[in-house]
Amino acid sequence: MIFQDRRKTGRLDLEATEMAVRATLHRAGARALSQLLQFPAPPDGQRRVACRCGQQAHYRELRSKPVLTAVGTVEVSRPYYWCSACGLGQFPADGELDIEKTEFSPGVRRMQTLVGQAVPFEQGREQMKVLAGLEVTTKSVERTAEAIGSDIAQREQKEIQKALRCDLPGVAGQPIPILYVQMDGTGIPVVKKETAGRAGKLPGLPAHTREVKLGCVFTQTTWDKQGYPLRDPDSTTYTGAIETAEAFGQRLYREAQERGWNRALQRVVMGDGAEWIWNLAAEHFPEAVQIVDLYHAREHLWEVARKLYPSDQGKQKGWMTVHQKRLLDKGKIKRLVRALRAIKSGDPEVAAKIGNEADYFERNAERMRYPQFRRQHLFVGSGVIEAGCKTVIASRFKLSGMFWTVQGANSIIALRCSYLNARFEDYWEERRVALAA
Ligand SMILES: [Zn+2]
Repeated sequence: MIFQDRRKTGRLDLEATEMAVRATLHRAGARALSQLLQFPAPPDGQRRVACRCGQQAHYRELRSKPVLTAVGTVEVSRPYYWCSACGLGQFPADGELDIEKTEFSPGVRRMQTLVGQAVPFEQGREQMKVLAGLEVTTKSVERTAEAIGSDIAQREQKEIQKALRCDLPGVAGQPIPILYVQMDGTGIPVVKKETAGRAGKLPGLPAHTREVKLGCVFTQTTWDKQGYPLRDPDSTTYTGAIETAEAFGQRLYREAQERGWNRALQRVVMGDGAEWIWNLAAEHFPEAVQIVDLYHAREHLWEVARKLYPSDQGKQKGWMTVHQKRLLDKGKIKRLVRALRAIKSGDPEVAAKIGNEADYFERNAERMRYPQFRRQHLFVGSGVIEAGCKTVIASRFKLSGMFWTVQGANSIIALRCSYLNARFEDYWEERRVALAA
């Protein structure tokens, strides 16, 4: 066909040609693969396998099913065994091939998870078609990505339980100069049933969202000429889920352990002022220095400035020069609290707001010793986790028209973190080893 076309038109349409050649090679590959996947009937004397119920399942016949592989659909024909005691049938070959209860080969499922963690499932379907020449449904990208993500999440839960029992093998290695744990929360849109009875529980968030708690761990060895901290390249790992602060604390504890918390010479926990963060830090990271993100602290002052001078930006700025630059940034929190408490406002709402803010600074004073932190070349902003909330969560979970179930979101978060943490290869390898065992 290609040559005929070339004779007729005098030119070669390379794109059409390369795609046609790929499709042809796929078909040839699928034929070869199908032959490899014709399992023989077991010889007499080997026609029984153990059944889960403790009895024996007996060979019945060869059965075939179509499986989509990296080179297209193939037919797999393999022995079927049936247990008369409990009525359960099984295909031992499916376990070996990792195609149990799925119509997709491991190679294709890996592609589906790769695209599914990165982009909306519909886009993933398109990418599979263009990049791999494979036609799959949007739903299948979603199902496969969720199934693998859920498997990853379950394995993580096992590791978390081990970490809590102090059962993890100590991760050996060099001492780590400074290790940071940062955490934050960010809302994602969910389907209606996931917010039933929860309206108003999360102040400031509309009722159609649930909060993903995201944590990250990274390390620092050095600082720049001006003394500003430098994050070690590629040292950031993420973990998160829609879950309680308690469960999230355990998750983050395990991640920190995995990253060498015990080998760290200096340990730092950072977040905004949210109370759950510091409760969690006290429980799981009691030996860490705690730092409130400077930019959140500044934002709290801005809110006061705007309350005091609602329509006068000049006065707001003047007030900030005194209270931010001379007090907050200088770590003079006691004086800042005194200054706030001294403000008299006739407006009860404004007075209450300022009182709350004074409480906030008083409560977090130890965590706002910014000049001291700077002298130690530590980070004073939680920019890493805030960027994480955008790149890990928002860019995949907060696109228009998206509504997640908690379980679906948690599966894809687990999958996405696994990729971003460069652990997906390990997961897939472990899976293969487990099948071979
Ligand atoms: Zn049985």
